[in-house]
Amino acid sequence: MVEAHQPPRTIRLVRSPKTDGVGVFRITAGRRSQFYAVVEVRCEIGGRGFAVHRLGMGTLYHVRVGAPRDCSCECLGFLRWGRCKHVSGLQALIRQGAL
Ligand SMILES: [Zn+2]
Repeated sequence: MVEAHQPPRTIRLVRSPKTDGVGVFRITAGRRSQFYAVVEVRCEIGGRGFAVHRLGMGTLYHVRVGAPRDCSCECLGFLRWGRCKHVSGLQALIRQGAL
């Protein structure tokens, strides 16, 4: 595994998007924590679409989550490896029923 040396990542929903559409989640890896705002966006090509914005940074990623062929993200990790923490994190939150 390419990422075997990295500490395990956990994702937690900090603010539910169910009231006004804007959610916040936190990805923790080892001692590093990053917060992201997430808004579901219209997606007409399969899967569910999300705009994910890392708080405190300028970076905005459009993330699509669904069947394997319907997963995509604009980050460098996804471009390089075909997978990333944004896709896997949102998949975990969807599995938990949080999104
Ligand atoms: Zn990504």
